[in-house]
Amino acid sequence: MVPNMEKIKMTTPLVEMDGDEMTRIIWQMIKDKLICPFVDLKTEYYDLGLEKRNETDDQITIDSAEATKKYGVAVKCATITPNAERVKEYSLKKMWKSPNGTIRAILDGTVLRAPIIVKGIEPFVKTWTKPIIIARHAYGDVYKNSEMTIEGKAKAELLVTTADGKEIRQLIHDFDGNGVLMGMHNTEASIKSFARACFNYAIDQRVDCWFSTKDTISKIYDHTFKDIFQEIFENEYQAKFEELGIEYFYTLIDDAVARVIRSDGGFLWACKNYDGDVMSDMVATAFGSLAMMTSVLVSPDGKFEYEAAHGTVQRHYYNHLKGKETSTNSMATIFAWTGALKKRGELDGLKDLVSFADKLEEASIQTIEEGIMTKDLALLSTVENKRTVNTEEFLDAIAERLVAKI
Ligand code: NAP
Ligand code: MG
Repeated sequence: MVPNMEKIKMTTPLVEMDGDEMTRIIWQMIKDKLICPFVDLKTEYYDLGLEKRNETDDQITIDSAEATKKYGVAVKCATITPNAERVKEYSLKKMWKSPNGTIRAILDGTVLRAPIIVKGIEPFVKTWTKPIIIARHAYGDVYKNSEMTIEGKAKAELLVTTADGKEIRQLIHDFDGNGVLMGMHNTEASIKSFARACFNYAIDQRVDCWFSTKDTISKIYDHTFKDIFQEIFENEYQAKFEELGIEYFYTLIDDAVARVIRSDGGFLWACKNYDGDVMSDMVATAFGSLAMMTSVLVSPDGKFEYEAAHGTVQRHYYNHLKGKETSTNSMATIFAWTGALKKRGELDGLKDLVSFADKLEEASIQTIEEGIMTKDLALLSTVENKRTVNTEEFLDAIAERLVAKI
């Protein structure tokens, strides 16, 4: 810490959601080395580690989401989503749901992902000099479908029974032989909140917003998405976009894909659930590494929950437990903290806090650009004289540079 430096004060607490395994180890180190020496950190702490979730029958997850609604900004560590193996490993009372799913359902959010860009880790697409933010609708479509196989000759119809008992039928297909069939849905309320989350985040980041679907083929389903976005944009956001000099435009998904590849980045790409699932993995990989991808859940009423896009890095944790050296990249978790601190600072008018978060981001990027990095990046980096460091050394190298900036 800088001698005689007065710590930066906070007014409203951040909602802090602690997590599991290697990311839990990193979480504590980030606080100890990079935040608490400089900031009089105020958080409302929720332990979402699997043991605590099990002990509280997962009430802790619900409480943390409610706290996020109350205070507006949260920072979350990666957490284990239990499967059968984890139920055994942790002697769980039951296979608790994914914390992210629970939090998303309570906040009614959209997930936005953006890569952290550093010199030396070059995107596979050479023109991408600015981040591409993917906004993925996280409700419905193929993820909440109903599907079946058809055997032999069969007539398949859509049947809707309205509240007053009326039946509406529509032919899907007259099967001559075996086949497959699927029904899916979305709701106007969810599409509207998706649209608002995208427009709010584009305004927050001062970037253009692109939206794409296949409305030429899906003239009702996808077209409804297009119409809702257009209506909400015109009625609620157009004036603000014009004021900021940013743009909203809609295009067909095939055209969007071609434009994205030719672009230099620097925009938000709103995607339907499936498109967002596929495209976010493609964009993340094309930018370099999962450990450099940040994620934020934005609710339609402007609540923010920041996290890393990766998981708890279980393999590294088991090595850590065996006393072996680890080289886990903490960038995405650091940026979850800086994102949350910056947002808290903006909302509370704390310029020092915003500027601290900026400096921490700069120090982190500088560390990698000067050739000090964890193993995952060392494999990709084109920087000369790079040095591969362990988990803790990487954070110490950032701390050194941060002190120099403060
Ligand atoms: P993961 O934790 O993302 O790790 C997969 C692999 O990616 C690691 O083994 C490692 O590769 C590499 N990696 C990921 N993050 C890294 C980092 N920060 N630094 C260096 N390398 C990194 O995914 P997983 O192993 O499939 O899942 C582990 C647990 O995380 C699961 O229990 C899952 O439920 C949970 N999870 C949570 C979230 C969340 O809370 N948002 C998201 C996804 C998964 P190498 O082993 O080759 O070094
Ligand atoms: Mg996926």
